[in-house]
Amino acid sequence: MEKITTDICIVGAGPVGLFAVFEAGLLRMRCHVVDALPVVGGQLTEIYPKKPIYDIPGFPEVLAGDLVRNLQAQIAPFHPTFTLGERVEHLEKQEDGSFIVTTNEGTAIACKVVVIAGGLGSFEPRKPAIDNLEQYERKGVAYMVRDPEEFRDKRVVLAGGGDSALDWTIYLAGRCKELTLVHRGTTFRGAPESAAKVTSMAEEGQIKLILKSNVTQLHGNHALAAVTVLVDNETPYQLEADYFIPLFGLVPKLGPLENWGLELEKNAIVVNTVDYSTNIPGVYAIGDINTYPGKLKLILCGFHEAALMAQSAYQIIYPDKKFVLKYTTVNGIQEL
Ligand code: FAD
Repeated sequence: MEKITTDICIVGAGPVGLFAVFEAGLLRMRCHVVDALPVVGGQLTEIYPKKPIYDIPGFPEVLAGDLVRNLQAQIAPFHPTFTLGERVEHLEKQEDGSFIVTTNEGTAIACKVVVIAGGLGSFEPRKPAIDNLEQYERKGVAYMVRDPEEFRDKRVVLAGGGDSALDWTIYLAGRCKELTLVHRGTTFRGAPESAAKVTSMAEEGQIKLILKSNVTQLHGNHALAAVTVLVDNETPYQLEADYFIPLFGLVPKLGPLENWGLELEKNAIVVNTVDYSTNIPGVYAIGDINTYPGKLKLILCGFHEAALMAQSAYQIIYPDKKFVLKYTTVNGIQEL
């Protein structure tokens, strides 16, 4: 059983967990980061690595994967340590107020502060009710687009009416041999401008848009070859397809963190917005996993929360020192 000792244990290596390392590092606090996934980056790596993001200050446009790489470069001077591919399961408070955090593999992290940056928790895609769906997983059925190049010159059927379905339709059109978006409604839940773009692409013949419809069956011998589309509950027909990508969102699951005695509201951790602390002293929650009045699930907001968390955690780790805000332009970055 591996035993690690650090100042702060960060649960989750998404963008917010990574930036928390930077804010902690500026204040001379060491971090160990644990993620259930084998790679860092959270949703950006797992769901949309090749998608451009437009609302990161100072970057008019940045690919999600590039933002993760930049964050890794930004925190490198602080030499964080990582346990990847292990899920954090237990939190144990010690008599002196410090913690032991343990993973499913038995790795134990002794720390003074715990920062939960667990995003949506473990990723579980919402799957459509199709009998033989699982038979075609990794043989044509995908629940997320990791690398758009996989779909180049292929016949792809996307399903869904939210932002992911609309964004990927726009992005993949022109790359695929044939792209069809199947949506059960007549209006979209996603951004109106994306919906308008998808509608005009369909009118121009760049994509096929089938409304009031569902994919009800999958066909193919060893891999997916066709899907059955049921239109308006009346006329089923088959559509040739190399890939079927249902994008019905992710089911938020806190998993083991649910049993830590944290105050929860709708699958999220309730925090005090003064410093993003939870009801357990010494445990903070930042990024998509927390909730408070006015919460926005944006990377930008998680970055801000990380900064305020760090100055509060400083009081726990250095109780005898006074926190003084120092600009990086004055002090630069001092390696840990
Ligand atoms: P996450 O990115 O979810 O990372 C959390 C990490 O914690 C995960 O890697 C997970 O494996 C890990 N974890 C969870 N539980 C445990 C555990 N028990 N043990 C170990 N590890 C654990 N936001 C924007 O600001 N701008 C955009 O343009 C934008 N576009 C988006 C487009 C799409 C398609 C999607 C899905 C989201 C978009 N977002 C956007 C939202 C943005 O991705 C999230 O706000 C951001 O990822 C939150 O970061 P996070 O670090 O809090 O959580």
